[in-house]
Amino acid sequence: MKNDETLKRITLAHGAGGTIMQELIKRYILKYLGGSDAEVPLEALDDAAVIDDIVLKSDSHTVKPLFFPGGDIGRLAVAGTINDIAVMGAEPIALSAGFIFEEGFPVTDFEKILKSMSETCREAGIHIITGDTKVVEKGALEKFFINTSGIGKRNNALEKNITEVKKYREFNSRWLLDSNLKEGDKIIVSGAVGDHGIAILSFREGYGFESEITSDVAPLNKLIAQLLDVGGVVAMKDPTRGGLANTLNEWSEKSNIGILVQEDNIPIHGGVRAACEMLGIDPLEIGNEGKVVIAVVPPKAEEVLAVLKETKEGKDAQIIGEATKKFKEVVLETSVGGKRILAPPAGDPVPRIC
Ligand code: MG
Repeated sequence: MKNDETLKRITLAHGAGGTIMQELIKRYILKYLGGSDAEVPLEALDDAAVIDDIVLKSDSHTVKPLFFPGGDIGRLAVAGTINDIAVMGAEPIALSAGFIFEEGFPVTDFEKILKSMSETCREAGIHIITGDTKVVEKGALEKFFINTSGIGKRNNALEKNITEVKKYREFNSRWLLDSNLKEGDKIIVSGAVGDHGIAILSFREGYGFESEITSDVAPLNKLIAQLLDVGGVVAMKDPTRGGLANTLNEWSEKSNIGILVQEDNIPIHGGVRAACEMLGIDPLEIGNEGKVVIAVVPPKAEEVLAVLKETKEGKDAQIIGEATKKFKEVVLETSVGGKRILAPPAGDPVPRIC
């Protein structure tokens, strides 16, 4: 870690989804909690784990403020866990929810959050089937946190998808893992990046961009099931904390391959671009909560893209690049042919967004 302070105490950067958080996980969490013989274990640091064909995921949500343009902590908690299970190629089947309140939290706000969770569950076709409530004294934490966990299972759509992949290349994985990319795989992003983080930051700090930018938070399991039905998908990831830059770098590192991205093909809304220019932050490092990045065997890329574009969540989808052996890193290419390395971000530039 970078300096003495980050070694001794937990900082906000340790929860920001980038290289600083990764180092905390690798140096401390894996040291004590690693070592299982799960099919996809903790050490894989993938979107979720797999044991005995059950996909398992846990997520804590500390977003500030609790209600933001386009969503709230309840919708975020439900969608975030569903999406992490779905991007493994699994069908999410049930969730748990643990609520931690600070003494004095308004019951009317809790009811609004529960209503939002219920609506998001209905949208995704899933239920919360177990949970927990705890209350801490005033001042012990900031108002309200949620932890959601979820399980998912293999289904026919995943089998069909993998059968399709195998028509075009060797594929030894049973799940859609970060380590599955091979040379030539096309990379698709399902829509504009940066909306969630910028909507929250702008609303929280009063910058005013939130009039045109709202969070993209949404459950994507039904969309993902449609893509698996087309087939040819080798990996998927929801570009949450650390944004697209973090997703692509995790893929590159774990698949041991370079990724070349056409910068101009990455969809970014004008308001997000303007806010990022004003604040001096990179929209590619900002967390999203309703987007998926998809790696597809080349012959199926256009077909997957076409299906995406017919959906509400995927109408702005684009093929943004491909895996390549020409580099080891993630490289951005501009329309005039300039190239630069897209480094793994130290953390999401916007704290407390999920
Ligand atoms: Mg994820």
